[in-house]
Amino acid sequence: MQDAIIIGGGISGLTAGYLLQQRGLDISVIEKGPTPGGPIQSVKQEGFLFEKGPNALLLPSQWVEQFIDELGLSTQLQESNPNAAKRFIVRNNRPVAVPGSLLQAVATRLFSLKAKLGFLGEPFRKRISEEDAKFETVAQFVQRRMGLEFLDYAINPFVSGVYAGDPEELILEHAFPLVRGFERDDGSIIRGAIQNKKRQKAAGTSYKKRSISFKEGLHALPQTLGRKLGNRLWLDSEVVAINQNDQGWQVTWKRDGENFEGFAKKLLVCLPSRAIKKLAWPQAIKEHLSSTPDLPYPTVHSLALGYRRDQIAHPLDGFGVLVPSKEDPNILGVLFSSDLFSGRAPDDHCLITVMIGGRQRDDLANLAKEALIELAAKDLDKLLGVKGAPCFSHLTTWPRAIPQYTKAFGPWKRTLAEIETDNPNIAFGGHAIDGIAMGASIQSGKRLADETA
Ligand SMILES: Cc1cc2nc3c(=O)[nH]c(=O)nc-3n(C[C@H](O)[C@H](O)[C@H](O)COP(=O)(O)OP(=O)(O)OC[C@H]3O[C@@H](n4cnc5c(N)ncnc54)[C@H](O)[C@@H]3O)c2cc1C
Repeated sequence: MQDAIIIGGGISGLTAGYLLQQRGLDISVIEKGPTPGGPIQSVKQEGFLFEKGPNALLLPSQWVEQFIDELGLSTQLQESNPNAAKRFIVRNNRPVAVPGSLLQAVATRLFSLKAKLGFLGEPFRKRISEEDAKFETVAQFVQRRMGLEFLDYAINPFVSGVYAGDPEELILEHAFPLVRGFERDDGSIIRGAIQNKKRQKAAGTSYKKRSISFKEGLHALPQTLGRKLGNRLWLDSEVVAINQNDQGWQVTWKRDGENFEGFAKKLLVCLPSRAIKKLAWPQAIKEHLSSTPDLPYPTVHSLALGYRRDQIAHPLDGFGVLVPSKEDPNILGVLFSSDLFSGRAPDDHCLITVMIGGRQRDDLANLAKEALIELAAKDLDKLLGVKGAPCFSHLTTWPRAIPQYTKAFGPWKRTLAEIETDNPNIAFGGHAIDGIAMGASIQSGKRLADETA
């Protein structure tokens, strides 16, 4: 009988497993894929180092920074290039830098004078009732508080970049709870953001978030956790059945066609929502889960493209460019990968990563590589002055990339909480419940470990 079995060896499950092991508990982590870390996969090919999934980890807290240090990864850590603070959004077919200061905000071509004046009125707009706020979409909220132009040219591309999502269907309270809190507690986003900074300063919890990676790419983090877990991490192992008895849980997994069994007092589940629903649970849990709809996960194509530097007119001096749906694009955006972190491309070359698909372009989900490169080429030429064919290309398609915290999220979260209440020795974590960024999943793993030991 082990202390815990963790199902799912993405970054949340690995973090929970590692922390529990450090605290002297006997655990196993069961992961379906051949490598630890889910979509966090870095690949070196033809002199390019590219990411198949996430490109940068936004450090969310001092604790995550310490965690990386404790794992011995500080010497491999790469800070993003200072240029990365600059982000571009397309307006009238041209990338415009997002203003980084008040002066730039006044001068920017990204918003009309009317939109800028409308934004200044934000602190004076009325808040809505708690009841109405529960169902308010991101689009409704932004339009109500800041106006349509701000929705179209700031929030729509931002939501594409973070969620590959649609602001018309994400619920603010679930997708951006901090912003919801600003209106609820301080009556305004602007006031709330200022108050929040003050509160953090007073509590000594201010932390300046930074985007980082590692010299060998982001997968250094899950690979290191995997090595530390040693033979307690089962790769290529899909959980096929879960049974409950007096002492705890019996978990069955399949590896190379053979069934293995483990017994544990506690079960930690760090899986995508559909995988949670598909597990062979005891009848009561199965029924409970079948009463709630699954979360939507759109398809996202991540296209890594290498070019000679002289093929691109734009200086690529920033994090990347996002394209609002108003501009009728083929692509969601482009990351300037080799400008973001060094060592990503051979001399005189550059690497860019083009994201295509997402919730607003489901129609592109089934396109093959050549068609996607052709589609991307049109936007890349128009927006960045990219000429000619890439000298390197790699496509990764994620058929279910990122969960959308839509109106399905409330009932989904409630169902998981009820299952936890009925079964105190089970807990859920990871992106299907605790936030969709890598940093949120790392903190989710810590939460599970803290609640377990
Ligand atoms: C294309 C893309 C780009 C992204 N870009 C960024 C970014 O730049 N920055 C950022 O912060 N985040 C980004 N993200 C999100 C980030 O990757 C996730 O938030 C994070 O990796 C989620 O970790 P997790 O542990 O919660 O879930 P997952 O990584 O999904 O882990 C779940 C694991 O469970 C395994 N599994 C499934 N079913 C079973 C089963 N039956 N038995 C055993 N194992 C099973 C899966 O193989 C998987 O490894 C991106 C995601 C994608 C797809």
